[in-house]
Amino acid sequence: MARVTKPRILVVEDEQAISEPLVESLAREGFEARIASTVAEAEQAFDEREPDLVLLDVMLPDGDGRDLCRDLRRRSDVPIVMLTARGEEVDRVVGLELGADDYVVKPFSVRELAARIRAILRRGRGSSTHEVVEIGAIRLDAASRTVTKQEQPVEMAAREFDLLNLLMSRAGEVVRREEIMDLVWDEHWFGSTKTLDVHVSWLRKKLEDDPAEPRYITTSRGVGFRFAAPEDVSPEA
Ligand code: CA
Repeated sequence: MARVTKPRILVVEDEQAISEPLVESLAREGFEARIASTVAEAEQAFDEREPDLVLLDVMLPDGDGRDLCRDLRRRSDVPIVMLTARGEEVDRVVGLELGADDYVVKPFSVRELAARIRAILRRGRGSSTHEVVEIGAIRLDAASRTVTKQEQPVEMAAREFDLLNLLMSRAGEVVRREEIMDLVWDEHWFGSTKTLDVHVSWLRKKLEDDPAEPRYITTSRGVGFRFAAPEDVSPEA
């Protein structure tokens, strides 16, 4: 798959303090990025020339990025990454109601964002991140909310499933405890995060060959948890 032109990214973001440095950084990462600062500008830019991917802010001066997301999804299978602020309830509907492919929480690192953009573009159109993730012997199907290990169904409570879904959708990356609490439990979680450790230990019992020596879900002490990247584990293990 030889690509002669740079992937074109439409950055829909009204805050210049975010969009301008972002576009410069994306250019350094090998993308051709264009800014639209309103819903109207975004629609116009989209109609002029369909981009390869859309980065979409939620709060825009003339509308809601989530409505624009649904609208774009109705007419195109262009990958969409939502740029969300902490506490915005986008995560729960991404991939389901909105049809977005992924989301990042501000402030985000451009390097990480660029890596995710590349991963989405590699996967190609029409295959959302949130459908099926298969790593090693574990397969998670977000649409049917089912998990299998070596093709055997694994029973999951709703919260366990949500936690696993989050970790697997970001496999290879350490997801911070606070972010997990925000996304899987409640935004603005102030209590103990002990419940997270308990849920991780339940997942390990269900998924790991040896829960005491986990290969899939590893702890980054004091930081968070990481689900193994596909290259970390072989399917037969
Ligand atoms: Ca905004």
